[in-house]
Amino acid sequence: MSGLVIIGASYAGVQAALGAREAGYSEPVTIVADEHSLPYERPPLSKAFLLDKTREQKLVLRDEAFFASKEIDLLLGHRVIRIDRTARQVALVDGARLDFDKLVIATGSRARRISIPGAELDGVCYLRTVTDAIDLKARLGRAGEIVTVGGGFIGLEVASSAAKLGKKVTVIEAASRLLERAVSPVVSRFLLDAHAQAGVDVRLGETVISMTGDAGRIAGIDLGSGGRLRADLVVVGIGGIANDELASAAELKCANGIVVDEHGRTEVPGIYAAGDCANHYNRFAEGWLRLESVQHAQDQGKSAGLAIADSHEPYDSVPRFWSDQYDLKLQIVGLSGGCDQMVTRGSIQEGRFSIFHYRQGRLVAVDSINRPGDQMAARRLIAARISPTPGQAADGSFDIKALLKTIDKAVV
Ligand code: FAD
Repeated sequence: MSGLVIIGASYAGVQAALGAREAGYSEPVTIVADEHSLPYERPPLSKAFLLDKTREQKLVLRDEAFFASKEIDLLLGHRVIRIDRTARQVALVDGARLDFDKLVIATGSRARRISIPGAELDGVCYLRTVTDAIDLKARLGRAGEIVTVGGGFIGLEVASSAAKLGKKVTVIEAASRLLERAVSPVVSRFLLDAHAQAGVDVRLGETVISMTGDAGRIAGIDLGSGGRLRADLVVVGIGGIANDELASAAELKCANGIVVDEHGRTEVPGIYAAGDCANHYNRFAEGWLRLESVQHAQDQGKSAGLAIADSHEPYDSVPRFWSDQYDLKLQIVGLSGGCDQMVTRGSIQEGRFSIFHYRQGRLVAVDSINRPGDQMAARRLIAARISPTPGQAADGSFDIKALLKTIDKAVV
């Protein structure tokens, strides 16, 4: 039995399968996944799940009946160990082989490990899967003093959840500000204040050089600046690495992820990649990029699925990210790299504002705190390359949505 084989049952893999089916692909579709759970939502793992506001069963993206109704076979708990592009087969760890006519590699990314003395101690944790989250939640319940290594999305979300649970939390961040590569300095500062108000001790420009233990369990961390902090739980959130080893072993082109075109195609006919594991040329970045976000994985996975069914809709979404910390909703649309002007819309004091980023007079990205309306408008404006002037963006009485009417008229 040949047909479509997809490696990885998360956002990209599931959307590739659904995209292919929606566009009329009628050959067998099999998704092979090394995790045992049905495909599930990852974002709540660092947020609602740690706070006990949602349960594992509620995280499921689609149930078995749904996949059966689409005639998509799920092979859970099976790891693919090799792609044979000549024989057009994938080999599973138990020795089985699956033939494919088309293949989607949607293997995602994994947490980057820290390599310093003591990093293997019990109580040094990472957060990527639901299994990690179940373990972390149990440990959080027992821990009093928690350190997150990294002031990125994972580190800050875990810090926010742990602070809400009444824990003593310290965030160690090597850069001079929080979420340095993702948001404006104004938003970094705002988040720093929010964490400080919640009692979290954020150490910027600081590093962890070693971890010390007591009977094999984490007991403290040593700081680059010379101090030592007590810790009975350490959560490391220092970025992700593309799971592209299967692809590179099969001699597919990889460079910080599997290189694909706007339809998720690799250079080998019939082999596609999408999501966290893929690197693509992004017109909004004006460069090659590997993105880690739900929206990207879903949209790129869908483009690959459509292309498999010969219904080509190129992946061309404006990148979007979000993060929930305390009662703050941070949303980001676009990519702010290389921006040369920023203006604020809304009120920082009231905790409802957006930062509009410009590159050579063109709107390229907007970060918002608790202003979803700005995000919706900005997404369409950036996609259509329509820019309010910086003065219009900063003027809260100017209706930026009105600029969208030019697009709507063009569509009519
Ligand atoms: P993944 O979700 O990484 O899934 C890939 C799957 O493939 C995994 O199940 C993996 O085990 C499996 N796999 C890998 N290799 C093999 C193999 N050889 N054989 C079989 N299976 C294999 N994004 C946002 O946009 N907003 C958020 O708020 C947000 N919060 C997050 C919070 C956490 C804790 C985490 C971990 C991520 C968060 N993300 C968030 C990022 C988002 O979850 C990822 O970008 C998204 O999951 C990527 O989807 P994917 O399908 O590309 O890969």
